[in-house]
Amino acid sequence: MEEIIKTYDDLKKQLKESGHEYDMALIEKAYHFAEESHGDQKRLSGAPYMSHPVAVACILAELGMDSESVAAGLLHDVVEDTDVDLEQIKKRFGSEIANLIDGLTKLRRLPYTSQEGQQAENIRKMLITMADDVRVIIIKLADRLHNMRTGSFWKPQKQRDKALENMEVYAPIAHRLGIRAMKEELEDLSLRYLDPIAYKEIEEGLHLRESERSSFIEKTKEQIRERVKPLIPNVYLEGRVKSINGIYRKMFIQGKNMDEIYDIYAVRVIVDTVNDCYNVLGIVHDLYQPLPNRFKDYISTPKPNGYQSLHTTVIGREGIPFEIQIRTWEMHHTAEYGIAAHWKYKLGLSNKGDSLEKRLVWIRQMLENQKDNDDATELIRDIKSDLAPEEVFVFTPKGAVISLPAGSTVIDFAYAIHSAVGNRMVGARVDKRIVPIDYKVKTGEIVEIITTKEETKGPNRDWLKIVKTSEARNKIRQWFKREKRDENIQEGKAELEKELKRSGIEYSDEELASFLESIGKKQNCQTADDVYAAIGYGGIQLWKIMPKIREDYQKAKKMATEPMIPLPVKSASSGKAANGVIVDGMDNCLVKFSRCCNPLPGDDIIGFITRGFGVSIHKRSCSNVPENLAEAQEPERWISVHWSSDIKEDFQTTLEILAADRPGLLADVTQHLFNMHLSIHSLNSRQTKDGNAIISATITIHGKDHLAAIRDHLSGIRGILSIRRT
Ligand code: MN
Repeated sequence: MEEIIKTYDDLKKQLKESGHEYDMALIEKAYHFAEESHGDQKRLSGAPYMSHPVAVACILAELGMDSESVAAGLLHDVVEDTDVDLEQIKKRFGSEIANLIDGLTKLRRLPYTSQEGQQAENIRKMLITMADDVRVIIIKLADRLHNMRTGSFWKPQKQRDKALENMEVYAPIAHRLGIRAMKEELEDLSLRYLDPIAYKEIEEGLHLRESERSSFIEKTKEQIRERVKPLIPNVYLEGRVKSINGIYRKMFIQGKNMDEIYDIYAVRVIVDTVNDCYNVLGIVHDLYQPLPNRFKDYISTPKPNGYQSLHTTVIGREGIPFEIQIRTWEMHHTAEYGIAAHWKYKLGLSNKGDSLEKRLVWIRQMLENQKDNDDATELIRDIKSDLAPEEVFVFTPKGAVISLPAGSTVIDFAYAIHSAVGNRMVGARVDKRIVPIDYKVKTGEIVEIITTKEETKGPNRDWLKIVKTSEARNKIRQWFKREKRDENIQEGKAELEKELKRSGIEYSDEELASFLESIGKKQNCQTADDVYAAIGYGGIQLWKIMPKIREDYQKAKKMATEPMIPLPVKSASSGKAANGVIVDGMDNCLVKFSRCCNPLPGDDIIGFITRGFGVSIHKRSCSNVPENLAEAQEPERWISVHWSSDIKEDFQTTLEILAADRPGLLADVTQHLFNMHLSIHSLNSRQTKDGNAIISATITIHGKDHLAAIRDHLSGIRGILSIRRT
């Protein structure tokens, strides 16, 4: 692969043609400063050094990144590779750009020696946490990408090391941020070094099939366009080829040969609205026979990185199966540029003084929207903790990465390494400087624990108040339990006496003995001294048991208990409607619809007063509602409710349609739903073992009568066996 060297003029042209407003004065200044600083430095290829930062800036411009990112791309190697320092950058270009450059410089400290499993994941997280501005990661990825493009000048060992690092660290990050183009190119460039033979085989295979397939794709696009255009004039079609690494993984993981991979070539249909997407789906399923079980609705269930589209595999006119992807333009931009799409949309608007918080709103919203999706929760939690740093990652002097909860101190670090290190700790150095014992470590720091040889030294009791992790706390307690029984007894006795006094509890010696015995029984202590010792080393935590002790004491002394909170009184007056439901006797009370029976307007309903969550509405016929209310356990909590007459609320409901499977079934159902002008939130189909199909459709309806009408309408479709609401 011969690199086409881009010049500054190419960059300027690209920025101009992007249609966005760039701060050209800033970019110009950055270019000239970088060019001057790098002087006559050369790349390994012999090309002038500036060809690299210019190429990185071009990649950033392609992604639609902002002026500051493009300028930082031009300047990214200046501090590291010339004698210019960060102060000078700050003076010339301001703190925003200086921060981006500083972030990039910090990332160079990341250790990498072909890490596996958890360690690779820690490095990925660390990289994301260290970059407190997401743009730093995107610039780093662009830098990586261009270095890989010119990797043929590296020694073979370096090629493989970098390739492996890309596969384990950088490509997964690009994937999480949803930047498809970068992820795929990084992977393909890396695969070339990791498995050159397979890479070549796939590349040649694609080449062989190219002309035959491209005419097939062209014909197919025409067929779809012809049918869709009259209904949806604003439709865009394109063909797409799967990445080499994507094909490689299917061949390797699923053991398929190239002809068995149906989505090597796909036709992509881009329309304006979500409704149009489902509409196009109906049309293509009518036009071609869909392959069973290949329909995926990533619109109602987006992938964890925010990807949305409808995917279906159909059999074309020539009997060749191929994939069709249907999406809106917005989904398309998110699929291609991921988090970078955020800047793409925003560019040209004022983005000065934008906090990280604001920049992340977009990705957070994207994550919020899909929090009901169970399979994705795990990954979402990952990304969330990446972006909201609840963890810090620090190095041992040997370069191993230790992950700790945010707020951890050097003591936590010492105990995370080994209890012997913690127990003998006398001090710590962070980045070679001595720090106080309660110093809170930050991501990226190198922490070194200073220990004494003296075995009896042990931790300090005050450390229990400083440490953050339960691991450190437990290890410190264990030490005290083992080493200092007498001291613990004294300490525990004093602590308990103080606590009892503070709570106003007065025991006679006799009462105290029986009290200690009763605590001892619960906490596995034989004697009163054992109880004191346990309090002393923290095995019994007084703050945890004191409320119960106080309560017991007060009961015993027959003191008045707190009055019960009375339940709302039922009255005949009718309340105001909340959520379309009137709760008799209560105005505007919190109302929620129970999940078990999902009542709809028109259903016979009843309310249940929950503890603290308002009134939950059930169908009268719901199995959770006692048939005879008078005999219910707490009859006073069942309350009569009715639908407000002026109800306008819309309800989402899911229909499960059982049908004898046949070609075109899903298309027919889709068509019928559209003819009724329903808004469809999701549509899925699966096959049952006995050859039937279950289609589940989530739609918005206006009430019971509307539902009945829909049901009537759908049951007219050939092959429908039953329709039920879930
Ligand atoms: Mn670089």
